[in-house]
Amino acid sequence: MIKFPLSYKRVTNRSLMRTILSTKYNKRPSLRQSYIRYTDAESIKTLFQKLLASKQASTIACPHCSSSHIIGHGRYRDRQRYKCKSCSRTFNDYTNTPVHRTHYPDKWIPFLKCMVQGESLRVSAICVGISYVTLFYWRHKLSRAIQLFLDYQIHTHTDGYLPVGIHPPRYVVSEMESSHFIFWIRHFNWIKEKYLGRYVSWFRFVFSRSKNVLVETMTDFLLISSSISIDQTYRTIKSVS
Ligand SMILES: [Zn+2]
Repeated sequence: MIKFPLSYKRVTNRSLMRTILSTKYNKRPSLRQSYIRYTDAESIKTLFQKLLASKQASTIACPHCSSSHIIGHGRYRDRQRYKCKSCSRTFNDYTNTPVHRTHYPDKWIPFLKCMVQGESLRVSAICVGISYVTLFYWRHKLSRAIQLFLDYQIHTHTDGYLPVGIHPPRYVVSEMESSHFIFWIRHFNWIKEKYLGRYVSWFRFVFSRSKNVLVETMTDFLLISSSISIDQTYRTIKSVS
């Protein structure tokens, strides 16, 4: 049986859970700081730079009309803005990625860490410092994008996994995966059955990278989910699959 490297073990064991929940509300920000410090802060600094580099490396096209007649349009909050000469609409490097329209991109770092470690919603909300509602939405946005990405992979090359029909869970999970999956999924309460497919994808994505270091997986999580058009994610986020 393959064991998760130490960094993948949930830090959210019962004692940490107890510590967090017993900490007075006004003391929780410092707890958040220590949570962020736990990760390799220096490496994480480059996480968004990598996202920008991946966006800029691909030929810049208008996310609204796909035109390549683009001109620079100043900067806003450290983001390069562009204007499309065909449809006159503006966009920036984060447009069409899950990070777009989030007011606090820095919160994505602890959030990604919580995603990689499969933290519960309750603990994640405290560690990230955002409301349940926002966090729940971010989680679905990201897991849906990962699901779309894995779907494309399955359709382009089988990679050992075959879609087995329309009934969830849609994929054959290997025996080794399933024993870890059962352990992993127990951590979440209240999963709607119709969303099980995206939880499977989320698990599979992290599991397939369990030999990586934490920061690498966080980076992958962000870059790969950003490679899926966020419009497509929004269109299908409520759909059953
Ligand atoms: Zn355009």
